[in-house]
Amino acid sequence: MVLKLENVTKKFGNHTAVNHLTLSIPEKQMFGLLGANGAGKTTTFRMILGILRADEGTITWHGQRIDHSMSPDIGYLPEERGLYPKLKVSEQIVYLARLRKMQPKDALKQLDIWLDRFKIAEYKHKKVEELSKGNQQKIQFIAAVIHKPKLLILDEPFSGLDPVNVEMLKKAVIDLKNEGTSIVFSSHRMEHVEELCENLCILHKGNPVVQGSLKEIKRSFGKKNLIIHADFDLSFLASHPGVTRSKLTAEGIELQIESETVAEKILQSVVNKGFVRKFVLDEPTLNDIFIEKVGAEHE
Ligand code: ATP
Repeated sequence: MVLKLENVTKKFGNHTAVNHLTLSIPEKQMFGLLGANGAGKTTTFRMILGILRADEGTITWHGQRIDHSMSPDIGYLPEERGLYPKLKVSEQIVYLARLRKMQPKDALKQLDIWLDRFKIAEYKHKKVEELSKGNQQKIQFIAAVIHKPKLLILDEPFSGLDPVNVEMLKKAVIDLKNEGTSIVFSSHRMEHVEELCENLCILHKGNPVVQGSLKEIKRSFGKKNLIIHADFDLSFLASHPGVTRSKLTAEGIELQIESETVAEKILQSVVNKGFVRKFVLDEPTLNDIFIEKVGAEHE
């Protein structure tokens, strides 16, 4: 384990933003931090980075408390995108890279590689304010990774991007992971977390409510999804014992069920009624788990 949070608490006045959070974030993997708005994700990141002080608990990186001397090892894409609108892209990157102890000529060399990769080479000498929001975000992502950090913290990296740019950034993040970067990121998009993360934590009002490996979290959730398409009315299944949720669809029904045994019973109750075109038992999605653990408070 490379990044460790032990019993970390942060209060703002009498509001507890993060409550006794203990997390072990493995090296060279992608770790997802999830939670509804206000759950405490950004506050956690700021404490990891030393921008905010934890009221209680300890945060260590390779066994050492994080301090300013580690800044060349760390990259951060903040949630509030903060570039200087009047600076040119190249000036901006050189300035930010110098804060990470990188030489300007090395920064410019890396910048060219990244601008090419993100297909925005023509913006190198443009002022930030002349770029679209999505392209500004790509620049800020470049600023977070240009010095090849060992630990990369990304707060909502894909928000506000079109689908093509989401894929482009995702690919960049996956490549960085494969090159050995340890990545922690927050997202409200469950499918991104499902696709990218081996391990994750769901925060709810500052408390960790689910954490561990994605596989294990899905397995221990117990409930499964059952999709049935048939040429007859399936609405009677909504009240079948062991069904916890149901949704009629154009082709049939989607059910959430308590266990596999329920699926067997349902199969028996449908086979004699007519032609069944599809009967699929699926793992729960991360979205199912999130909704159950965090509930209606999620937007
Ligand atoms: P979102 O998904 O909306 O970005 P988040 O999970 O990142 O949310 P945080 O920004 O960490 O949530 O906020 C956690 C809680 O702490 C919120 O209730 C927020 O209002 C409060 N909070 C955060 N920063 C401050 C601050 N500087 N002063 C007072 N309260 C704060």
